[in-house]
Amino acid sequence: MQNDIKEVLYSEAQIQAKVKELGDQLSVDFEGRNPLVICVLKGAFIFMSDLVKAISVPLEIDFMAVSSYGQSTQSSGVVKIMKDLDVSVEGRDVLIVEDIIDSGLTLSYLIDVLEHRNAKSVTVVTLFDKPARRTVDLQPDYKGFTLPDEFVVGYGLDFAEKYRNLPYIGILKPHVYEK
Ligand code: 5GP
Ligand code: MG
Ligand code: MG
Repeated sequence: MQNDIKEVLYSEAQIQAKVKELGDQLSVDFEGRNPLVICVLKGAFIFMSDLVKAISVPLEIDFMAVSSYGQSTQSSGVVKIMKDLDVSVEGRDVLIVEDIIDSGLTLSYLIDVLEHRNAKSVTVVTLFDKPARRTVDLQPDYKGFTLPDEFVVGYGLDFAEKYRNLPYIGILKPHVYEK
């Protein structure tokens, strides 16, 4: 698995330090509130589990799985909910935890859904951001690292469901795609 990685962009230690920093900031900013923290499956599951340990305010967690339609054609922004939340977001301060924002279509759909369900507030934290590829006007409230326009894997992110368990984030060697 390690042999498939061309370059490590951020090491395990660098990621852990950044997650701690984000957790500290969120703890200050959510003081006195009881946020519902939503993990967008599957990619955000490792970030989510590390991040909530770094947040000191009382919180609840829930999970959502979404999938985009027609990614090889024009991105329509149509997203399907594969697994919905177990609880209502009405009147809640919601914190969406994302692995990476690319076009931004998935996230803008999710924000719409949660606002229509009358969340009190919707805040977004993403570990990685690829702003160069954005097709909708959307900025995360909190972000870990800005990435170049490269396909990355590790720390929850996959290629064909593999590499999620790498503790760092890296770029795949081209031969992996060409197989
Ligand atoms: P968006 O709707 O912002 O284009 O898509 C975001 C989703 O696409 C992410 O949550 C992630 O699942 C996937 N994605 C975008 N860029 C990458 C990447 O560089 N590597 C991996 N593994 N997944 C990515
Ligand atoms: Mg995601
Ligand atoms: Mg994926």
